[in-house]
Amino acid sequence: MWYGIQRTTFVDFPGKIAATLFTGGCNFRCPWCHNQDLVYPHRLSQLPQLDEEEIKHFLIRRKHLLEGICITGGEPTLWGERLLNFLAWAKSIGYETKVDTNGSHPEWVEEALKEDVVDFFAMDIKHPWETYHHAIGRDYDIHLLKKTISLITQSGKPHQFRTTLIPGLSRKTMLTFAQEMNIDLVFQPYRDPHPLGKEEHLSLTGETPA
Ligand code: SF4
Repeated sequence: MWYGIQRTTFVDFPGKIAATLFTGGCNFRCPWCHNQDLVYPHRLSQLPQLDEEEIKHFLIRRKHLLEGICITGGEPTLWGERLLNFLAWAKSIGYETKVDTNGSHPEWVEEALKEDVVDFFAMDIKHPWETYHHAIGRDYDIHLLKKTISLITQSGKPHQFRTTLIPGLSRKTMLTFAQEMNIDLVFQPYRDPHPLGKEEHLSLTGETPA
């Protein structure tokens, strides 16, 4: 499940000093994705997986320095119960947890809320609904994405809806969208995607826990 770790981040988890963990696999194929090594199975299979027990030991050792754990990907929610269990463990030793998601699996979000294992949700909103399929490289049931938005907004948990202004997508269009959906959007600048080589992947994710 785990393909990378950033040992310390001051930006991934708002207001917290955190470590970021990267899960492998994604059900979307966004053309501008910056983590393509984590998305395409033939590329993912070239990457070494991190041992979960080693990650846990690392997080136990760093507990005096870190406040939170941010889970990103790929699409973390694809890991279902295994991720829920990991988050429950992280909370049991005092970490706050954040999960980044593309919103495709509201049933996972629902379960995470029921089990109270996520303290902060961040969901990417890619495009207006009519053209969403262009932005994610496939068709997808928009009702599922809307359900995730609704679960997150009604949860009372801190959260962030984020949009990257990819070419052709205007801030004005997304502000109208946000108004219609009654949500706040955080805008992220667009950077050209580039395939990540092994060296870049390692520098992206930092050292593996020793
Ligand atoms: S949802 Fe995220 S990880 Fe998946 S393809 Fe899109 S940008 Fe990449």
